[in-house]
Amino acid sequence: MSAYNGWSSDTALREAVAREGASWASGAIDAYGALTGGELVAEGFAANENKPRLKTFDRYGRRTDEVEFHPSYHRLMEAAMRHGVNGFAWRNQNRVGAHVARAAIMYLGTQADAGICCPMSMTHAAIPALRHAPGLAEKWIPKLISQHYDPRSIPMEEKSGCTIGMGMTEKQGGSDVRANTTRATRLADGSYEIVGHKWFFSAPMCDAHLVLAQAEGGLSCFLVPRFRPDGSKNAVEIQRLKDKLGDWSNASSEVEFRGAHGMPVGREGRGISTIIEMVSLTRLDCMIGSSAQMRQATIQAIHHTRNRRAFGKRLVDQPLMRNVLADLALESEAALALTMRIARAVDASAKDQHEAALARVATAIGKYWICKRTPSHVNEAQECLGGIGYVEESIMPRLYRQAPLNSIWEGSGNVQCLDVLRALAREPASRDALFSELRSASGLDPEYDAVLRRLVCALDDATTIEHRIRFVVEQLALALQASVLLRACKEGGDIEIAKAFCRSRLGGSHGIALGTLDPEAPIGKLIDRATVFD
Ligand SMILES: Cc1cc2nc3c(=O)[nH]c(=O)nc-3n(C[C@H](O)[C@H](O)[C@H](O)COP(=O)(O)OP(=O)(O)OC[C@H]3O[C@@H](n4cnc5c(N)ncnc54)[C@H](O)[C@@H]3O)c2cc1C
Repeated sequence: MSAYNGWSSDTALREAVAREGASWASGAIDAYGALTGGELVAEGFAANENKPRLKTFDRYGRRTDEVEFHPSYHRLMEAAMRHGVNGFAWRNQNRVGAHVARAAIMYLGTQADAGICCPMSMTHAAIPALRHAPGLAEKWIPKLISQHYDPRSIPMEEKSGCTIGMGMTEKQGGSDVRANTTRATRLADGSYEIVGHKWFFSAPMCDAHLVLAQAEGGLSCFLVPRFRPDGSKNAVEIQRLKDKLGDWSNASSEVEFRGAHGMPVGREGRGISTIIEMVSLTRLDCMIGSSAQMRQATIQAIHHTRNRRAFGKRLVDQPLMRNVLADLALESEAALALTMRIARAVDASAKDQHEAALARVATAIGKYWICKRTPSHVNEAQECLGGIGYVEESIMPRLYRQAPLNSIWEGSGNVQCLDVLRALAREPASRDALFSELRSASGLDPEYDAVLRRLVCALDDATTIEHRIRFVVEQLALALQASVLLRACKEGGDIEIAKAFCRSRLGGSHGIALGTLDPEAPIGKLIDRATVFD
């Protein structure tokens, strides 16, 4: 596929950004879009063909614990920071829609290479948690939201741009972080000495990580930098890099803390509530990332079938293939629509309690469903390419390997569903915000209204609710997606597309596989909207 602009060629994205209040950022998004569909595509291939390597020691046998990345990865990181995947929302935090604009920027970056999104997402998401430690925030935040990428392994004081990661998961538990055994002992100067391990510690080259450890007052959050205040290397030893299914350009590691220096972030014993502020943003980023993977898979499928002939006709003109392509496009557009709606809720959260309550519950719903849908979506798109879809020269194997990751990390599927259950059962504000959001689209479609009526009483039987919660969350997610598409019609959105979504996803006229839209679906419109080249 030749170079394209990921922003100007994406009608659904431009509409979503305008709908959610970030049109003012079009110029900034456009500039990155020209790169993510252009020169960064080749960098993405090279960064994945050349995986990062661990360099444990220098030539004198001293520990360095460095990770060596291919130059293409550095170029991807440099472009991501320059265009604001890490910092755009915070540098523009006084403008309405800054998180929406930043979501669009990340959506574009992921399409060139998802591997950079892990450190970029964590760096973006760490800001609210860090604010619990004003001294650290003052020192770190300007560098974390910086547009300058500096990969050098040197103390943060000497750098103009920094990145940050997160260390929660231990061998004995990732979902249940209360089982963490890493210990933090308070020293006389107020810093802590940390001893223990982390079983998954992605982006270990970051300048610091927010780490959970057990202190005297309970599980607490700490900033663990790569260098101690005296400039010496901190005692964070990388055991090995994970040999992962996908996400190859990014490094994930196992580490031991051997008396590492850490500074408290938030109060002792409040570690989970502190770091959850980071996690709620990285969960939104999982939705952004998975929506972006669906978009990339869809355009690859459409592009290929427009240029491939079988049985005397282009594949894109064959009725059965058209059903598959249109269904891929519909799924991708619905994923993006919900993602951007939640980005707006996050954006408004600081000033609007209703939107904050909606973001709280809808992020878990959206993260569960969109990430869950991505592997089968990508596989269906891959099949449109036939054999070449299974070959590395097409981007499809990379997309396919990446596709399951977002549903595993940042809280796996069941954990998201249990989180929704907790919010709906114990937080009346979240429940009210969710149902008022859903009710705002009632009366626009009969299938939608019928699902909404069923959802209102779905939680009534408390004895079976945990058993049933996946189904309920799935229905909530589909209803939320439909509600955004239906309401968009009031502002120029396409009613045929919204109705096709309701009939297929809510009304039972669709099969389990994609490519099963009914004959009334606006097939041509869906394919044309998603097409990158005329
Ligand atoms: C590539 C990669 C990079 C990662 N990077 C990081 C990182 O940088 N920092 C970090 O802290 N972590 C990281 N993780 C770890 C990730 O967040 C955890 O793997 C994840 O949270 C699940 O934890 P676990 O592996 O211990 O699985 P478990 O907690 O053992 O869960 C296994 C399964 O059980 C389910 N489950 C758990 N509790 C329940 C329940 N009560 N009812 C029903 N089902 C349940 C879960 O949903 C999951 O499907 C990374 C993971 C991967 C794959």
